[in-house]
Amino acid sequence: MKKHQDIRDAVAALCENFPGEYWRKKDRKNEYPTEFVKALTESGFLAVLIPEEYGGSGLGISEASAILEEIHYQGCNAGACHAQMYTMGTLLRHGSEEQKKKYLPKIASGELRLQAFGVTEPTSGTDTSRIQTKAKLDGANYIINGQKVWTSRAEHSDLMLLLARTAARDEGNKPHDGMSVFLIDMHEALGNGLSIRPLKTMINHSTTEVFFEDLKITKSALIGEEGKGFRYILDGMNAERILIAAECIGDARWFIQKSVDYASERIVFDRPIGMNQGIQFPIARGFAETEAAALMLEKAVQFFDSGKACGPEANIAKMLASEASWSVANTCLQTYGGYGFAEEYDIERKFRETRLYQIAPISTNLILSYIAEHVLGLPRSF
Ligand SMILES: Cc1cc2nc3c(=O)[nH]c(=O)nc-3n(C[C@H](O)[C@H](O)[C@H](O)COP(=O)(O)OP(=O)(O)OC[C@H]3O[C@@H](n4cnc5c(N)ncnc54)[C@H](O)[C@@H]3O)c2cc1C
Repeated sequence: MKKHQDIRDAVAALCENFPGEYWRKKDRKNEYPTEFVKALTESGFLAVLIPEEYGGSGLGISEASAILEEIHYQGCNAGACHAQMYTMGTLLRHGSEEQKKKYLPKIASGELRLQAFGVTEPTSGTDTSRIQTKAKLDGANYIINGQKVWTSRAEHSDLMLLLARTAARDEGNKPHDGMSVFLIDMHEALGNGLSIRPLKTMINHSTTEVFFEDLKITKSALIGEEGKGFRYILDGMNAERILIAAECIGDARWFIQKSVDYASERIVFDRPIGMNQGIQFPIARGFAETEAAALMLEKAVQFFDSGKACGPEANIAKMLASEASWSVANTCLQTYGGYGFAEEYDIERKFRETRLYQIAPISTNLILSYIAEHVLGLPRSF
């Protein structure tokens, strides 16, 4: 029995209104699934991690994971809005009471969307310590200059959480010192120093490049203390890893179900293709990999919700779940044969979508490096 069956049933009912044809159309036209995100927001699902005092439902990562897993299991995609669940945590943990009171209730109600998260830059890549976007204090304002890349959903967000340098890399004790986090009002900024350029990609992800040219923001946009921004972002990483792993498990279970159904129905050589062990075994193996990853995810979820450190568990869960979903995506495509390539079955769309998770929000190599260095104590590589 899966946990939170009542929540899963409610999510499944909502997803029924967004069948494959809805996603295919969005995918074809590269359109943001506004209606889906609106329905999720109105149902309160996106605000489960926001405490009740700020208008959310104050539930745990366990419930949030169940929501995202179910969305993906139903063939939908939460990539258009999942970031709000985890970026909000930076504001919640490190924002001032005034900032929390100002923004969180509006984020919970859907009046404000916090979907844009600007960390990655073209030249720095995974090495966040080398970001070059700068925020320079000028009286009561900060002036921002620089560029971000892969800032997803920037065109569909009212706020952006931005990581920028307030001190040079060599000024601090550590390379990651001297970065700060800002909460930017996108409407005020657009056309006044902020511009956005959409990036076309192999999936419909509304991702963009964002340019800052003397963007002036007030000092009050700073979250927490200046110079500690990277630590604040890191604090949110375990939640991000866990929630992405949940989406992967949802994808994996969707692919497995599709594979089982098709292998049972498709008759070739006068028998269901699923009678052939060449078809059965990869599905069975994918199922085993998915269940193992789901167990690791459950461990990470339990640690997280009970306040225990869960870096290794969250990272391992994300890696195993993204590998399991990709493995069963491949198997599903093979099971469908030529029909797997036809848009109408959604396999090729979900196949493209689930591939992302081995690269973003963190690539597999970086997780392996974390395990090697921080869990196994192997010498630091970079
Ligand atoms: C669709 C999409 C949406 C995204 N959304 C966002 C977003 O909203 N906000 C945001 O800030 N970012 C976002 N990203 C960026 C994403 O987090 C990065 O693409 C990802 O972290 C990898 O960084 P990179 O592309 O610069 O790869 P690079 O850092 O250039 O690395 C390229 C490859 O080399 C490997 N590599 C690099 N260094 C090492 C090493 N020392 N050892 C072993 N392997 C190494 C990496 O694992 C990777 O496979 C998004 C990306 C995509 C594709």
